[in-house]
Amino acid sequence: MEGIIWLVVPCYKEEEVLPVTQNRLKLIMEDLIERKKISKKSRICFVNDGSSDNTWPIIKGLCEQSKLFTGINLAHNKGHQNALLAGLMTAKDYADAAISLDADLQDDVSVIEQFIDRFYEGKDIVYGVRSARDTDTGFKKHTAHIFYKLMNKLGAETLEDHADYRLMSKRALEGLSEYKEVNLFLRGIVPMIGFETDIVYYERHERFAGESKYPLKKMLSFAIDGITSCSVKPIRLITGLGFFLFFISIAFLIYFLIIYIMGRTVAGWTTVVVSLWGIGGLVLLGLGVIGEYVGKIYMEVKERPRFIIEGFIYNKKQRVKQAFDPYEETEDDKQENRKGIVKR
Ligand code: UDP
Ligand code: MG
Repeated sequence: MEGIIWLVVPCYKEEEVLPVTQNRLKLIMEDLIERKKISKKSRICFVNDGSSDNTWPIIKGLCEQSKLFTGINLAHNKGHQNALLAGLMTAKDYADAAISLDADLQDDVSVIEQFIDRFYEGKDIVYGVRSARDTDTGFKKHTAHIFYKLMNKLGAETLEDHADYRLMSKRALEGLSEYKEVNLFLRGIVPMIGFETDIVYYERHERFAGESKYPLKKMLSFAIDGITSCSVKPIRLITGLGFFLFFISIAFLIYFLIIYIMGRTVAGWTTVVVSLWGIGGLVLLGLGVIGEYVGKIYMEVKERPRFIIEGFIYNKKQRVKQAFDPYEETEDDKQENRKGIVKR
C-alpha cells in the first residue's frame, strides 16, 4: 500500500506565485502517484491566510479543476505559523504524512521524494536543512547564525538552517496537536515531540516572484516570540543577576565596614552606599523569585503534553506500531470489508 502524502502550503497574498507553484507541485505529485510511490488519495493543500488579493479565488479554481488540490480559507490573516498549523491539523485526519513548504518554492521541491523515502524507512519527522546560503547576503547569513546561537543559548532548541520545510508522520502530527499554546513557534516545538528523526539537505532558492512577507522587523519579533514562547531562561537570567548583585553588595558591606572602622570615610557615606547596593540586589533577587513562579505559571497554562508514547508492547504477538505501517487497515479498507460482508 502506498502512503497518503499531503503537501501543506500556507499562502498569504501569493497570487503572483500560485499559478507557477501549483503547476510544479502538481507535476511532482502526479509523477509520484503514477510510479505508485504515493497513494492517489494524496493531496496538495493550499491554506489561504486571510489574503485580500486573488489568492483564494485561484485556490478555489484549482480545487474545481482537479481533485489533487484542496483548499483551506482562514477567516483572517493569522501569520505563517498559524496558517501552517491549520493545514497540518487538517492533514493529520486524512494523511499518513504531511510535508509543509512555502508557496514561493524557495524550498527545493525536488527533494520531496527523499522526504517520502525517509518516511517509508520509518522516520516520523524529517527536517529539511539548507545546505548552502549562497543566495543570502552576508548580513543575512551572519544574523541568521547569531539568531540560531542565541536561540539555543536562551533555551529554544532549534535545528540550525531548518525553516518550516519538513515532513511529519500522522502520529507526529497527533503529538503536535497536544501542544495547545497560542504563541506558536513550530521550529521550537517540533523537536520537543520526539520520535525518530532524519535530515534531508537542500538548496534554498530565491523567491521567484512577489516579495517576502518577512521583513527584518517581523523577523526580529519572530525571534523574540520564539525565545519567549519556548523557555523561561530570560527570567532565570534575572534571578542569576539578582544573586550576583546581592553577593556583591555583601562584599561591599564588609569592605565599607572595614574602611569605616579604620576611620577613612566621610560620615553617612557607608550607610548610603551599602543600602543602595543591598536594596538593589534584594529587589532584583525578589523579582527573579517572583519571575520563577510566573515562569512556572506560564509553563502550566500552556498545558503541554507531559509525555507522548512512541511504542507500547502489551503482548509478544503484537507488533510495535511503526510511523508508516503498510499492512495497517485503513478506515476505507474497513468500510470495504464491511460492504463485502453485506454483499455476501
Ligand atoms: N505567509 C503566510 N502568512 C503570513 C506571511 C507569510 O501564510 O502572514 C506564507 C507565505 O505565503 C509563504 C510563507 O508563509 O508561503 C513564507 O513567507 P515568505 O516567503 O514571505 O517569507 P521568507 O521566505 O521571506 O522568510
Ligand atoms: Mg519565502
